[in-house]
Amino acid sequence: MAQPCLLTGDRPTGKLHLGHYVGTLQNRVRLQHDYESFFIVADIHMLTTRNAPAEIAQIDQRAREMVLDALAAGIEPDRVTFYLQSGVPEVHELAGLLQSLVTVSRLQRIPTLKEMARDADIEMPLALLAYPVLQAADILSVRANAVPVGKDNYSYVEVTREITHRFNARYGDVFPIPEVIASETPTLIGTNGQAKMSKSLNNAIYLSDSAAEVRRRVRSMYTDPARIRADIPGTVAGNPVFQYLDAFGTDRATIDALKERYATGRVGDVEVKDYLAGVLNGFLAPMRARRAHFDQPGLIEELLLMGTERVRAETQATVREVRQAMGFTGVRNRLRRRAERRMTGPSPQDQEDHAAPA
Ligand code: ATP
Ligand code: MG
Repeated sequence: MAQPCLLTGDRPTGKLHLGHYVGTLQNRVRLQHDYESFFIVADIHMLTTRNAPAEIAQIDQRAREMVLDALAAGIEPDRVTFYLQSGVPEVHELAGLLQSLVTVSRLQRIPTLKEMARDADIEMPLALLAYPVLQAADILSVRANAVPVGKDNYSYVEVTREITHRFNARYGDVFPIPEVIASETPTLIGTNGQAKMSKSLNNAIYLSDSAAEVRRRVRSMYTDPARIRADIPGTVAGNPVFQYLDAFGTDRATIDALKERYATGRVGDVEVKDYLAGVLNGFLAPMRARRAHFDQPGLIEELLLMGTERVRAETQATVREVRQAMGFTGVRNRLRRRAERRMTGPSPQDQEDHAAPA
């Protein structure tokens, strides 16, 4: 039997960080052998909040970095199809055909879209409101069964599911209903402790950071602001330093002892942070080795180009099937037959067409 299919991806707005890893990349690595996997570099989705020519000029470089990040994280290049969204223009036709299956008010109720507009300091563009519909088209273009994403993305996949149910009910059972694959850490907080870790908020530790950069970023992390001396009892719950230890540490006994000493004012921030930097650098070390291995001129570009061709062909086939299911193929065929009749005289099929418009 054919393998089930998954699709995920990221906007080329910067390098991948620890939040991407725990939110989605880890699942992508884990599932790559069980699913036919597609990774989209969602550059058209980038336009929803950033459309300056200078941003667009960086897509190729950022796409390269993102794919390299994924390979460094353990994605095997022969298991996964990487592709560029803007290289598959047919996905817009699919998105257009899906647009009547969701209401504006449904999209306006999605909190993450409002947050994205607010963070980018812009009024809601139509493209941002329609973000989940284009994402639905990405997912359906390859008939994905599963979508491993972080928590901020669950509500978009829910829209895809609703659209898919409506499509199948109205036009025939064309698509599988895609499922979210949630992670153990659905949202990783940023180093500032204020918001989720995000490329756009300058609160990230990147998978490509050097050991020295990781130490520097950890040293300046937000902890418990009330704790101005090491002998003041500190708060562990919600403290990003301990959240990172929970997400990336392996030595539970040491972490529990640190939490206990922190809560009772028996350890300084510097000791906890140095321990965290060691944990993160231990976690990133094998990624650094794989990154060096895959960082060859032209290799990633070739993967992306080949993947884009493949997805384009699949999307064209999907659009053909969708047009057929919706009845557009029939409309065109009837027009063609009637136009031909003008040239050649009536055929038995024409008389049928007039008797019973299908
Ligand atoms: P931007 O700031 O440009 O929106 P981002 O860092 O939020 O970038 P996206 O490209 O929007 O990254 O997200 C890609 C994927 O990574 C999505 O599945 C998203 O849910 C997941 N993700 C991003 N940040 C986190 C995080 N801090 N914790 C868990 N998952 C995350
Ligand atoms: Mg985001």
